Amino acid sequence: MTPRSPVPLHLADLPLEERHQLLTDLGEPSYRAKQVSAHYFARLCDEPAAMTDLPATRRSDIGAALLPNLLHQVREVGCDAGRTHKTLWRLHDGVLVESVLMAYPDRVTVCVSSQAGCAMACPFCATGQAGLQRNLSTAEIVDQVVASARHARDGVLGGESRRLSNVVFMGMGEPLANYPRTVAAVRRITDPPPLGLGVSQRSVTVSTVGLVPRIRQLAREGLAVTLAVSLHAPDDGLRDELVPVNQRWKVAEVLDAAWGYAEQTGRRVSIEYAMIRAVNDQPWRADLLASLLRGHLAHVNLIPLNPTPGSRWDASEPAVMEEFVRRLRSGGISVTVRDTRGQEIAGACGQLAASG
Ligand code: SF4
Repeated sequence: MTPRSPVPLHLADLPLEERHQLLTDLGEPSYRAKQVSAHYFARLCDEPAAMTDLPATRRSDIGAALLPNLLHQVREVGCDAGRTHKTLWRLHDGVLVESVLMAYPDRVTVCVSSQAGCAMACPFCATGQAGLQRNLSTAEIVDQVVASARHARDGVLGGESRRLSNVVFMGMGEPLANYPRTVAAVRRITDPPPLGLGVSQRSVTVSTVGLVPRIRQLAREGLAVTLAVSLHAPDDGLRDELVPVNQRWKVAEVLDAAWGYAEQTGRRVSIEYAMIRAVNDQPWRADLLASLLRGHLAHVNLIPLNPTPGSRWDASEPAVMEEFVRRLRSGGISVTVRDTRGQEIAGACGQLAASG
């Protein structure tokens, strides 16, 4: 098998001290690291030619060393009256990933991919069907956020300039299966400029299907990000099928790790639950879910499944969903039904890349 060519190194892969070193190795004064970082993170600029505080003769060398072009835009699609903007990117080796920018009255959120493909094999998910291609580098994750912040600033969301405020790791891939790069990306996204982009840690959400050792490790990182656990079923019998990694770490172990995370960080854990017609939407499952979560720092996000074309999985009926919500609430659980942004542009996880 031909080995993959490595992802080009980018300044967003490195903490500031290592960027200094890279510039020193290039024969440049180390303070240039701060200058280039400020262009990238504070001004969202990745065009060396526009960096007029760098010597004109050195801009292209510095750009080649610190700002290689990692994401090539293949396609962008808008929908929801301009409030949703989805971008399909081709990476240096040809693999495709996507990110989705969503405008709300009080915030602008980008959903980023952490892997090309995914090894978790959830049967209702388009990405899961194709398997894992590779982990994204730290900079490939961060650059999705920077490019999206630039898009928002430049008015792709209905013509108005908006400031990116939230980042969710809920695109393609299992973020905690790409652990070191995901955590480094979170640091880059949340460190203040010029170290990073300066998004508040509390406005970042990292999702997982339940990789218990990695949840416990994340709790020790000293980050105040929200943990989102994709539970999708409260009982092991069904979860073994819907989220195959449950065969390794059971519901009780996953929730125990989640409560450890909540205790360590003081952050409420988000429990993600895709509502799948006649599969996991029965009233007794709502009651069981409520009993598992009661007394813990948790919030349930119900997501009507966005079915992949030709799949046997479909979204729950609205009345069934209402009853599920009612039972959770009467069980004392805080719950929201997530809006299904991007449905008309194949918005379920992985579908744009799958059709790209
Ligand atoms: S639902 Fe998420 S974890 Fe499961 S296969 Fe799809 S991308 Fe992977």
